[in-house]
Amino acid sequence: MGWKKHLIMGLILVLLMGIQSRTFAAQPNIRVGLWTQQTNVTVSANEVFEIRDPGTNDRFGKFTTGTRVLITQKNNRLYVNDLPVKSIVLSVQAIDENGRVEVNNKAYRGKILIKKMDNGMTVINDLPLEQYLYSVVPEEMPSSWPIEALKAQAVAARSYAIYSMNRHEAEGYDVCALTHCQVYGGSNVENEIAAKAVDATRGQVLLYDHKPIFAAFHASSGGSTENSEDVWGTFIPYLRSVTDYDQNSPDYHWMVQFTPADLSQLLSQYGYNIGTLQSITLSDFNSGQSDRSVGGAVKEVVFSGSQNTVELTGSKVRSILGLKSTKFAIGVFVPLPKKIDVAIARNSGYNKSIDVNLPDYQVPKMMTGSKNIHLITDSNEEIIKVEGYGSGHRVGMSQWGAKALAEQGYDYQSILYTYYTEVSIENWY
Ligand SMILES: [Zn+2]
Repeated sequence: MGWKKHLIMGLILVLLMGIQSRTFAAQPNIRVGLWTQQTNVTVSANEVFEIRDPGTNDRFGKFTTGTRVLITQKNNRLYVNDLPVKSIVLSVQAIDENGRVEVNNKAYRGKILIKKMDNGMTVINDLPLEQYLYSVVPEEMPSSWPIEALKAQAVAARSYAIYSMNRHEAEGYDVCALTHCQVYGGSNVENEIAAKAVDATRGQVLLYDHKPIFAAFHASSGGSTENSEDVWGTFIPYLRSVTDYDQNSPDYHWMVQFTPADLSQLLSQYGYNIGTLQSITLSDFNSGQSDRSVGGAVKEVVFSGSQNTVELTGSKVRSILGLKSTKFAIGVFVPLPKKIDVAIARNSGYNKSIDVNLPDYQVPKMMTGSKNIHLITDSNEEIIKVEGYGSGHRVGMSQWGAKALAEQGYDYQSILYTYYTEVSIENWY
């Protein structure tokens, strides 16, 4: 008889230990802000659904599949199909937890909260974090990419979301659905492959000092990522400049050109009226000069003109000129003719036009001390070529680099450890 008792005691002990070891938190919900300042919102669902006051749990109606219900805000009051209600928040949810609520013809998992605000209604999607990621991962990375890259994206997006909880608290939700936070398109954009990447890494986050990290990511760094302080002014220990593997990115290397007049015009549109452009001061790539970060980002550029001189940050120049990144260099060129006329025979009087593919002549830059000054005389119809590398802020994980590493056989952990330094991957729930 004794062994049976022991067995039962043992089983109970194992169960208790199992319960005790689950000290990590439950999966959180996330509130995603979809729209603000709405006066009319049409809701529906692909299942039977209810509209309730989430505070009092009062029910304002149970509706059959596909019924369209109009919610409006008039005279500081909410109306459900023209019936005024006292509530300041309404919750729309399908009876079946797998149902989807439709708002303005887009489908969403979880519930939709409609809040009365001074300037109209705010529409929020409140749903479990893993279900939110089913939509974020395919929005942020093509699902045709290797599964290990998608898993790295899932872990980065999950960490970023937990870090960003309450980012929009003043507006009544956690994150917005745009690139400011992470792009979220509801359930219509989901697909099985991205969902697999989310499920395979369920609950896993990047931790630094036991806390989920600000897992910044971008399309392509152009050879090396940046230190956080060189882009945002804030030192973040795990966002360091590292070598990237994004050579196959279409934005790895790019080139755009401007005439001096175009450039002066763009500067003046942004309030920097320098007159006729006369010179640009900026070092070359890998010059090690103080106007560039270790990762190659431009810190400042000086534009001198007939009327004024301005010093602008690399980010400012990026937005004024519409550049893909702040890792760029400048060259001043004089275009040479692509055709020249030659006599077909001595004294014949006949000429023939032949193609000559001469490269444009690069105007030598002036070096004064540690600075490179590119002079523009405007006498030779010069063109200003801006050559650059990468796309986006170039901090944290490079998506094209993640793709290349996955193609070379690296797993998502190795990919994440490449771009985020001194972090660990652990289960948050
Ligand atoms: Zn946001």
